[in-house]
Amino acid sequence: MRWYPRDYEAYEPPVSCGEVKVWEKNAVFGIIRQKPSVRRFGNNSITMARLSDPTGELQLNWFHMPYLRNTLPVGRGCVFRGMVIEKNGRRILQHPQVYEPQAYEKLTNRLLPVYPLTEGLSGNTVRRILQQILEECPAIPEILPRQIRDKEELPDIQQALQSIHFPQDRREWERAKNRLVFEEFLLFQLGVAGLRLRLHQEMNTCPMPKTERTESIAKRLPFRLTDSQQQVLQEIGQDLGGPYSMRRLIQGDVGSGKTILAFLSMLRAFENGYQSALMAPTDVLATQHYGTLCRFLEEYDLLEAVRPVLRKGSLTQKEKREIDRQIASGEARMILGTHALIQEDLSYPELGLVITDEQHRFGVRQRKQFSEKGTAPHVLVMSATPIPRTLAMILYGDLDLSVLRDMPAHRLPVKNCVVNEQYREAAWRFMEKETALGHQVYVVCPMIDPDEELPCENVLDYGARLQERFRGRISVGILHGKMKPEEKQQIMQDFAKGKLRILVSTTVIEVGIDVPNATVMMIENAERFGLAQLHQLRGRVGRGSAQSYCIFVQGNDRPETRDRLEILNHSNDGFYIAEQDLKLRGPGDLFGIRQSGLALFSLGDIYRDADVLERADACAKEIIKEDPELESEEHLLLKQAVTALFYSQNDSISPDSGEVI
Ligand code: ADP
Ligand code: MG
Repeated sequence: MRWYPRDYEAYEPPVSCGEVKVWEKNAVFGIIRQKPSVRRFGNNSITMARLSDPTGELQLNWFHMPYLRNTLPVGRGCVFRGMVIEKNGRRILQHPQVYEPQAYEKLTNRLLPVYPLTEGLSGNTVRRILQQILEECPAIPEILPRQIRDKEELPDIQQALQSIHFPQDRREWERAKNRLVFEEFLLFQLGVAGLRLRLHQEMNTCPMPKTERTESIAKRLPFRLTDSQQQVLQEIGQDLGGPYSMRRLIQGDVGSGKTILAFLSMLRAFENGYQSALMAPTDVLATQHYGTLCRFLEEYDLLEAVRPVLRKGSLTQKEKREIDRQIASGEARMILGTHALIQEDLSYPELGLVITDEQHRFGVRQRKQFSEKGTAPHVLVMSATPIPRTLAMILYGDLDLSVLRDMPAHRLPVKNCVVNEQYREAAWRFMEKETALGHQVYVVCPMIDPDEELPCENVLDYGARLQERFRGRISVGILHGKMKPEEKQQIMQDFAKGKLRILVSTTVIEVGIDVPNATVMMIENAERFGLAQLHQLRGRVGRGSAQSYCIFVQGNDRPETRDRLEILNHSNDGFYIAEQDLKLRGPGDLFGIRQSGLALFSLGDIYRDADVLERADACAKEIIKEDPELESEEHLLLKQAVTALFYSQNDSISPDSGEVI
């Protein structure tokens, strides 16, 4: 029942050709009068037909389905449903589904849930199963006390679950959503309050006073630490050497230099005889950190003594066993990896410090599980999500906060521009010029392959196009989440070393990637991404001393998109952007992209549901005030749910929406 739909399809009554709304899904009733035609180019093909009625005409396009030419209904009325776009003044219905009028009639005026699926499981199957479960399963217990439900005007759990799966209309959906999100936020806030009570006063069992070597290395870095970095380093130092265990969040915009702080902290753990571990959300990022760490240790002649290891999911059993042995025997003093570090049964005999990078990509249980490895290690988490301060205080209430306010010196702010597709040619010429200067370029597309309904750029076609265009002159690589881990690593390495000059990629490069020589970030179909995500992507450039550029290509000409992108165009400040994002996204933005990039919640979105979050937070505070241990009768079920959320074992996580990492 908690397998929530990720979207809903509304089958609205069909309209005539003249009534369609551009840039929206439309169901159009009309007749194809002439046999469709197929145009081929290379491996691709478009099947085209003309739909008409007395009110007007629409072009119909289908990609990669040449056989449709012989199967489409000609000469009789049908319903065609798909996205209508406008190109050069012409209206095109893209990749429509075709329905017989009676079949369509049956679907209309309902919101049909759309579920996340996996191979072999169809949307219809999941819908059928859920219908059955909702009808036949015994009532599930209500964990929200009556009083709270009344006060917040929330439906009961049975009703909410029924409505979240099969709502009659948007209003019903919204009521259900608010109830479930409220519950989710409330449990989270109660849990955070519990963590705050429990963990904060934990005695420092891994004391790490400063040592001469860490001090001297901090002074001999190839760059001067910024004032912020020094300040935060000092705060970390006080925690590590102080009476209580560290629970600290470093929040710093992309490029503010968090990694080096992690390394220096790990060094201090090493000097004091402890192992330390650093966890990153993607294989690509963990691998990059490993490379950087090895070079860092090499520089100070510590590689032999530290024996850092990279423990990630994609290793062979044999490699895993060997690395696990090195960790368990204490040979490996610094351990890097992905979720594998917490998910599997690893033992760390002398673990004194755990760090998670890009914390917003991890769920709350990971945050806790990781800190339970070893014996009460220090916990440092780093995040670039520039979520507004008020929200950060709520969501990370169990942690002390350190903020990196300034950027390393000698950085030029990234120059931005927002353009439409007509500018693409010019952008490619610009890319060519930048590579001639020895620099490198990222191009990000929203999709991996062209087999999608939406008219969006995809990595495979786009990459092939650029490879063709720059053949023999500029090397172009391709990167996406469906590639094998080794392949991904090879490509990333080649790009980092400069063997590849242009990298066409999905958002796998969104977090953490650091190639200071890259100066151009071009984002296709920028309208498909959230502002926070675009800001993260832009953070991949502007990391070296050369001037960098970010080109946002707008794939439609909607004014709302333009307004949104203008925010990025005028500011490079992550906090400002986050606040604007929050303002722009009203409750109207229901089924949109999950923009915050936070993986903490399954249904709640801290931006869209900011008001619910605040209410749930206030409610949690009230409950804690009256009944801090949740011992009263009416809070019993709440307590169980919080415990399950924060303290259950065997939790597996999936990286959040979008690209598979
Ligand atoms: P983020 O905070 O986004 O994780 P990184 O730690 O990846 O940023 O740092 C971005 C780049 O800036 C790296 O190449 C890093 O070596 C460099 N850097 C970090 N601190 C400084 C500094 N004080 N002066 C100059 N460059 C720095
Ligand atoms: Mg980083």
